[in-house]
Amino acid sequence: MATYRELLAQVKGEIDEIGAADARERTESALFLDVREHDEWDEGAVPGAVHVPRGQLESRIEGLVPDKDRELVVYCSGGSRSAFAAKSLGELGYRNVASLTGGFTDWKRNGYPIETPTTLTPSQRARYSRHLLIPEVGEAGQQKLLSSRVLLIGAGGLGSPASLYLAAAGVGTIGIIDADVVDDSNLQRQIIHSTKRLGEPKVQSAKDTIEALNPDVQVKTYEERLTSENVERILADGWDVIVDGADNFPTRYLVNDASVWNDLPVVHGSIYRFEGQVTVFKPGHGPCYRCLFPTPPPPELAPSCAEGGVLGVLPGIIGSLQANEALKLLLGIGDGLQGRLLLFDALATTVDEVIVKRDASCPVCGESPTITEYIDYVEFCAGPRVTS
Ligand SMILES: [Zn+2]
Repeated sequence: MATYRELLAQVKGEIDEIGAADARERTESALFLDVREHDEWDEGAVPGAVHVPRGQLESRIEGLVPDKDRELVVYCSGGSRSAFAAKSLGELGYRNVASLTGGFTDWKRNGYPIETPTTLTPSQRARYSRHLLIPEVGEAGQQKLLSSRVLLIGAGGLGSPASLYLAAAGVGTIGIIDADVVDDSNLQRQIIHSTKRLGEPKVQSAKDTIEALNPDVQVKTYEERLTSENVERILADGWDVIVDGADNFPTRYLVNDASVWNDLPVVHGSIYRFEGQVTVFKPGHGPCYRCLFPTPPPPELAPSCAEGGVLGVLPGIIGSLQANEALKLLLGIGDGLQGRLLLFDALATTVDEVIVKRDASCPVCGESPTITEYIDYVEFCAGPRVTS
């Protein structure tokens, strides 16, 4: 039976080791893997290094580094854990791995650059633990979400589940535009509000619910109706993704034109009775809303919002799908719904998908656009307004 020292010496004989000076020369070409524990990583690391604690190396490395020819420099604090890690990587088929002898301690002693990673607090680590367990999200993804900004159009049926799930996921800043107050006819589906908030502005009610759910989230409220007058001011606050839960055509066209001109992805959702639709309009990647519907229908042909009606759970399903698309856009993972229109039928419980394409003659995103300024269309819902 070998002692630890003998085993370490044997492993070191089987791997490539490099010194700090050598490692520094490889900072441009190689990927640095830090296999230390969280508390060590928190105190500083080699700039650009990827953190995978030793205990998770084998399970996570193939997700993080699919290319087995990638040049890797593995380090720990003193060069022992990284030696074992380098041996494991070799056994997993990685062909170009070196262990930093002397580890991060020697790197620091040489005065080479270090950076202190921004890290999650212990309570954030607990709150988002189910995200941290998914390699596609992980700590880096969670930090991305915490620094992300999503603008929601409407705090109604679609905005309720979308904003709740985005807030729970830790999207750091959520903007909400809505001019309405909470009405008792909203509560059948708008689950972000409650009976005791009747009569309150929806943006305030939503803000209170979100802040009670997750204190990491900053909520920016806009108690106004989106118009050609305020759209640029609101967008100037800086957003990564727009989630459109608007219940009316004029707002949808405004959001569309603004998103094309400001190069912002829009997660679009709409609902009617038992049917819901979701898609993503991402400028430069597939169509915009006007590619599908160049101009609004004449008011007499548009469905009356008051008569619309909707099964209470339907916005829950569609709004949740919108949150899913928004999270993927923020994280840069998965296949988005850009170019695909998802159709959900709640009565039959079926999902259909229609391929939608960019129209080269689209009046806004086409090759010779004819609409270059915001248009305020007339209000479509002539009767009493019912928000989605
Ligand atoms: Zn278009």
